[in-house]
Amino acid sequence: MSTRRQDAGAVDGDRRPEWARSAVYVDGRWRETAGGRILEVENPATETMIGAAADAGAEDAEAAISAAGAAFPSWSAMPLPERLAVLERVRTGLERRRDLLLETIVAEIGAPVRVAREAHVDPGLAVLRAYLDAAESLAWEERVGNSLVLREGIGVAACITPWNYPFYQVLAKIGGALVAGATVVLKPAELTPLSAYLITDAIDEAGVPAGVFNLIPGPGRVVGEALAGHPAVDAISFTGSTLVGARVAALAAASIKRVSLELGGKSASVILPGTDLEPAVHASVEAAMLNSGQTCTAWTRLLVPRTDLEAATQLAAARAGALVVGDPTQPETDLGPVVSPAQRHTVTGFIERAVADGARIVTGGTERPAGLTRGHYVWPTVVTDVAPDAEIVQEEVFGPVLTIQPYDSIEEAVALANATPYGLAGAVWGPDQEAALAIARRLRTGQVDVNGGAFNPAAPFGGYGRSGNGRELGRWGIEEFLETKALQL
Ligand code: NAD
Repeated sequence: MSTRRQDAGAVDGDRRPEWARSAVYVDGRWRETAGGRILEVENPATETMIGAAADAGAEDAEAAISAAGAAFPSWSAMPLPERLAVLERVRTGLERRRDLLLETIVAEIGAPVRVAREAHVDPGLAVLRAYLDAAESLAWEERVGNSLVLREGIGVAACITPWNYPFYQVLAKIGGALVAGATVVLKPAELTPLSAYLITDAIDEAGVPAGVFNLIPGPGRVVGEALAGHPAVDAISFTGSTLVGARVAALAAASIKRVSLELGGKSASVILPGTDLEPAVHASVEAAMLNSGQTCTAWTRLLVPRTDLEAATQLAAARAGALVVGDPTQPETDLGPVVSPAQRHTVTGFIERAVADGARIVTGGTERPAGLTRGHYVWPTVVTDVAPDAEIVQEEVFGPVLTIQPYDSIEEAVALANATPYGLAGAVWGPDQEAALAIARRLRTGQVDVNGGAFNPAAPFGGYGRSGNGRELGRWGIEEFLETKALQL
């Protein structure tokens, strides 16, 4: 148990003026909510309130949908180069705010500053860049026999986002929607609305026409449901838990709107026989623990040949134990807190039940990391001796918890990798790239990194099975917000 830790140094009352918000952004202007309420925002590392956001209601949702509907005809008819020029101004406005965005992500979700840069802000900016590039090559019009096939914006798109990557998730949706010519109503997660305000500032400053983009932070049960069920919303793009995704889809069904769901995951990292263990195990541990395990694509299950089980377990325990847990403002920190007390309770509950089920904890556990007197911290935890049908193997924990399972044949490795209801991401490691690729082809999942293949902001992202439907990013993320029309000539 050699996990290094350090106490969060941020001081009480550490607030920035940009984090004190109470308005919604509707029809191109800031206005107070109909109910006049605000949501307070906590820094999960210091447990102090650092900001506030509007706590909008159904009336605000109604106003935003109406504004988005009114703005749609001219935004969708705007020549593509003009639309892209407006969005390029948004992108440069966000780049100008990069330092503030980093500070905000560190404060509102507790991501360590390095993680905020490498996994939140820079990938978010890259995704927007990739949308603008993909727009240039998309087949907006094509001839098929005697038909002219047109692609045009779908109408009003409601985007509902989670707290785990609050900046990136918003751009993954609104980037595709706005490029497509759709107009947007955004409802960010209650716990992390501050970065969405900064995005809105950049949109406002860039001169995006009134009503094209609207921001209404508020509770999922109220604002989210109002959007999902509203007949004047043409598409709903939701990222969040599988349970809530199913609720959103059910509400949307009555008005036959397009529904894109990006949901939970339980992804496997498969290490093939003969692999150089150390780099593969280390990368798998780091991917499982990234963002304190609050990553939908986290490789939370490590599958290794039985003959490598002991060595892989020791390597994983050593790597997890060496991660620096603590103050997210410090450059050497690897893991910050989880986002809330409720999330900490959920994660430690999974660990407790796994132990009661017979699992063995090789590092980490449910105790608060020693020396950290405040903040919702969880130790990076590695668990073995788990049955394939154990809850800890089957269910998304959304915390820094990795399970390790042995397999006896390649067939069993593939079967275990595919043996959850989810299918969002995964990894294959092997000494032979072609053999690893052949295994990657057999995984029922939306993304597989082969021998450490890097994130590609232009490649499609989305899930199989209960991980969702639809695809974000690049050309695919624009197509989610397009209708297709055939003119016979
Ligand atoms: P969540 O489902 O609780 O909330 C997501 C969003 O939905 C929030 O904005 C919330 O306010 C809203 N919401 C809640 N109840 C609603 C309702 N009844 N109707 C409409 N909207 C409602 O999820 P979370 O806890 O914020 O995020 C964590 C989950 O998100 C995890 O399961 C994670 O795997 C998933 N996730 C998936 C992806 C992906 O791309 N597949 C990415 C990130 C997170």
